[in-house]
Amino acid sequence: MCHERLRELHDLLHKYSHAYYILDDPLIADSEYDTLFQELLQIEKNHPELITPDSPSQRVGSPPLEGFASFSHTRPMLSLTNSFSDADLRDFDQRLLRFLTDVPAFTYIAEPKLDGLAVELIYQDSILIQAGTRGDGSTGEDITANIRTIGAIPLRLQREVPGRLEVRGEVFMGFADFKSLNDARLAQGDQAFANPRNAAAGSLRQLDPKLTATRPLDFYAYGVSDPSLVQPPSQSLLFAELKEFGFKINPYITLCGSIEEVISQYHALLEIRPDLPYDIDGMVVKVDSFELQTRLGNKARSPRWAIACKFPATQATTRLLGVEFQVGRTGAITPVANLEPVAIAGVVVRRATLHNEDEILRKNLFLHDMVLVQRAGDVIPEVVKPVLQERPDHATPIIFPTHCPECETRLIRKEGESALRCPNSSCPAQLLRSLIHFCSKGGLDIEGLGKKAVEQLVKEGLVTDIVSIYRLQEADLAQLDGWGATSAAKAIKGIENSKNPTLARFLAALGIRHIGAVSCELIAATFATLDRLVAATYDQIIEIGSIGEQMALSLTSFCQDPETQRMLSQLADLGFAPTAVQTSTDNALFTGKVFLFTGKLSKFSRNEAKERVKQQGGIVASSLTSKVTHLVCGEKAGSKLKKAQDMDIEILSEDDFLHLFD
Ligand code: NAD
Repeated sequence: MCHERLRELHDLLHKYSHAYYILDDPLIADSEYDTLFQELLQIEKNHPELITPDSPSQRVGSPPLEGFASFSHTRPMLSLTNSFSDADLRDFDQRLLRFLTDVPAFTYIAEPKLDGLAVELIYQDSILIQAGTRGDGSTGEDITANIRTIGAIPLRLQREVPGRLEVRGEVFMGFADFKSLNDARLAQGDQAFANPRNAAAGSLRQLDPKLTATRPLDFYAYGVSDPSLVQPPSQSLLFAELKEFGFKINPYITLCGSIEEVISQYHALLEIRPDLPYDIDGMVVKVDSFELQTRLGNKARSPRWAIACKFPATQATTRLLGVEFQVGRTGAITPVANLEPVAIAGVVVRRATLHNEDEILRKNLFLHDMVLVQRAGDVIPEVVKPVLQERPDHATPIIFPTHCPECETRLIRKEGESALRCPNSSCPAQLLRSLIHFCSKGGLDIEGLGKKAVEQLVKEGLVTDIVSIYRLQEADLAQLDGWGATSAAKAIKGIENSKNPTLARFLAALGIRHIGAVSCELIAATFATLDRLVAATYDQIIEIGSIGEQMALSLTSFCQDPETQRMLSQLADLGFAPTAVQTSTDNALFTGKVFLFTGKLSKFSRNEAKERVKQQGGIVASSLTSKVTHLVCGEKAGSKLKKAQDMDIEILSEDDFLHLFD
């Protein structure tokens, strides 16, 4: 039984490693690989007599690719033991303490685990003379010509270093570059890379260095092959020295006095992960002192003095069972994948967006394919790519509808748009979605009228448009299936309470095409009252900074539509009246200004800051768009800061922000 499973695991892990390390085209997600690997380790732990030299547990990476000269490491480049929980980290600490009984205390260094490709760079008398991949740990590929194309790698060290120096680090690709590379590949009919790691590895292991030169690769150094040959006595001091030599060092590297500090750093890193412009798949913890590292030594495939604490997975593979075509509030048709349920980071994913027809064609997705699905942060899960090697014989292309699945109107596609659209403005699906939006948190947030309730009221014919919401009677609601006196009273109260929203909120609830939340704020701040807005001309609207032609056209045609005017006058008769924006001249410090806050704020809370901006007539955005005029950065501001610098947005520290009020 055990033998059989072990053989099966060997076969599977070899097959998956080959696809991952040699072809840079994984067949399964990393977390699925890790689960199989842990199962192998567990069997081998219980039956050490079954460990064979060719077991995946005894090997690092994979042998080098043919086509490259081989590169021998003077000291093996090892893998790292993985840990998956705080408890695993405490066990690691306990293990070290048992080895180092005579050492009263020691320090750890915690480093983000860049998800890229490990390389070794050889400098002779300060000049880069050779570079290689990790390969199987003792022999890698000689990729010197390709490494020379990476701007972040110094060809000559900034300080004279006599003799030989072997520097190790990670070559990686940032998210933005990864996305543009994949877009370009898909446009050329090539398969997308599954993740930035595969893109970096694939780019670095090109036989033609000219091709590598076109790929935006980056590099962070994290060590030397033999610490006994360098002056600094610890990893932390080595980082300082590597920096002086001209290497980039990751800014999130932190010294930790205890394993509990390591654990809290792990959680802090996990929190900022979505803000980083590159992917990290965990944190590497190392004993800081080189002397202690030497005492602890290495196991077969990993050092005893370091451990990788993995982050929860963001990807998994599963089966694409079917595709549903949803009609959105603006008539756009969105294909949604129905998936065989799969757990990603503790959440069962059953559906994922397929964006639009072009994306499906570009990704070459078929029904019944095995697909790689990604769920990162709060973003809607998406299908990254099919696993082509596993395409079943009965897989079929995904056929797009020609007519609206709800009202059967012929779908249209405007030039330059990627979405198919149902042009029927009274399409019941569009109406339902706009009513759901109107009542939702992004709209007027009407208590008691959640998605399910709105669906039911529309189905029962009680709600046919926005005005009919304000005509609902408690008695009508109370007799509906699943409703009672309490829920009916709650909904009526919610509706009553929604009658005086701010003008900006009302505009956002109406969901006018092309006009997002920040634009709603800008428009409301400019026109102050609904009457003035409805009377506004195209020219007056376009005069508002950062409102483009498309938006101005959409807003004017909405305001001038007799249907809109009828709706507004009926709403007014029912007591609905958006509140006017208070504009007083002494309050106008931030009129027309849009603020975004990022990083950890220490001088004021986010809510306080928002309040103060609003008091001064300014607007607070929740994401970085071209409308933002000021970015206020707290500690560890991540990708938003970098993007804002490229976008010519004014950047303020917390103190700068406070001085604005002086
Ligand atoms: P690893 O990636 O878990 O750890 C070692 C590597 O970490 C080093 O070689 C280096 O590249 C990297 N690293 C990043 N930052 C570092 C730092 N600050 N200090 C030291 N090292 C740092 O180990 P591995 O042996 O390279 O690969 C195993 C991983 O590869 C697993 O997590 C597995 O999920 C993945 N894998 C996936 C598949 C698949 O089919 N999806 C197949 C094989 C392996």
